Amino acid sequence: MTYISTRGIAPILGFEEAMMTGLARDGGLYVPDAVPVMGRDEIAALAGRPYEEVAFRVMRPFVGEAFDDATFSGLIEAAYSGFGHPARAPLKQVAPGGFLLELFHGPTLAFKDFAMQLIGQMFEAALKRSGRRLTVVGATSGDTGSAAIEAFRGMEAVDVFILYPHVRVSEVQRRQMTTPVESNVHALALHGDFDDCQARVKDMFNDLAFRDEVALAGVNSINWARVLAQVVYYVTAATSLGAPHREVDFCVPTGNFGDIFAGSIARRMGVPVGRLIAATNHNDVVARAIRDGEYRKGRVEPSRSPSMDIQVSSNFERALFEAYGRDGAAVKQLMDELKSADGFAISQGARQALSEVYGAGRASEAETLARIRRTRAETGELLCPHTAVGLEVAEGAAREGVPMVTLATAHPAKFPDAVEEATGERPPLPSRMADLYERPERVTRVDNDLSALQHLIRSRRTS
Ligand SMILES: *Cc1c(COP(=O)(O)O)cnc(C)c1O
Repeated sequence: MTYISTRGIAPILGFEEAMMTGLARDGGLYVPDAVPVMGRDEIAALAGRPYEEVAFRVMRPFVGEAFDDATFSGLIEAAYSGFGHPARAPLKQVAPGGFLLELFHGPTLAFKDFAMQLIGQMFEAALKRSGRRLTVVGATSGDTGSAAIEAFRGMEAVDVFILYPHVRVSEVQRRQMTTPVESNVHALALHGDFDDCQARVKDMFNDLAFRDEVALAGVNSINWARVLAQVVYYVTAATSLGAPHREVDFCVPTGNFGDIFAGSIARRMGVPVGRLIAATNHNDVVARAIRDGEYRKGRVEPSRSPSMDIQVSSNFERALFEAYGRDGAAVKQLMDELKSADGFAISQGARQALSEVYGAGRASEAETLARIRRTRAETGELLCPHTAVGLEVAEGAAREGVPMVTLATAHPAKFPDAVEEATGERPPLPSRMADLYERPERVTRVDNDLSALQHLIRSRRTS
């Protein structure tokens, strides 16, 4: 299998190179040239199988020559062995026809661990083989950074630099990034918001000389390997609820559109994913784009669900690429317009194509808190605020007779302030990380300045 850029110009790559590269050299995102379709019998055979086995079956064709079967299944086993639940992604019923897919049993308590733990394993295996070193640079609104640091800490061939907005992450998120003691871990608190962090990371990738000099690798949700790892839990959830014989809808708390886009891949693989509902907080650029056909970027307004506080939703480009019939030139034009005019209109045909797969809704801050409170009272479950946004939107989007699975993207203890505000209860951290608040922190403050950042990265690299 080969990978092509959504802007149609960058070189075509194999899986390993696409994974190591992250952002394509033309500024686009890599997507598979074709998505393999599974037969009904193949899908039916996955029902009730261990997560790791489903992961192997689903991802194998996308990985191609990069790893042989035995190696790849070993990497999958290692990736998920540190999860705190044997099902890895357990389903829990919270209403008639309404389910939560718990994606927060990994080491940093958010769904990002599913992809990042696997990427860590795959990077290490590939680098050991080639003797290369890499500098991983990522932007985070909190969860990506902690998951990346957890996945790469202590790896010999990788330095990991994570940029996060200096005041906008929760204390648990921050501590997960600043307390690892390994010298290859560099947490950078940037004066700015998440979009600034993401923009500087994109600038570094677009500076091709710098990119080659430090062997830059990206693990943001634009990395195809991350999207791929997230396809798996749509398949385990759908087959648990009756796929291939029954359709299942999903509601996905959405920021960068990576998680929900993974659902569209499961759908294209033949899993009967009905509708994918993008749930946003008041930073609703994606919800408006899907509903009104107009992508218009506003200002980031902080919310209680900070991992969705963004106005530039990178992976939406992948959805646009498909909706525009894989026309890279058309996508490039839209992205140029986004840069010069802060937005663009989606063509009629592309709007139609998007609406066949995606729906959208938003939840206000008050609705989010009320949903946390109500769910606690009705079911005993404590929700993280992102999951609450999802559940709130899911209720409005549910279809008669079609199960609706809301992705529970983080553990409530990762966002204890919002949960306490809603319910009066402060959710405790799982025991394996109970000492997080006592560990010493290590962080570097940085300005929102590209050349200063590049200088810092050059001088801090251990290679
Ligand atoms: C990253 C994140 C999201 C948004 O996911 P995207 O793939 O960026 O759309 C939602 N909830 C939580 C808890 C997250 O960490």
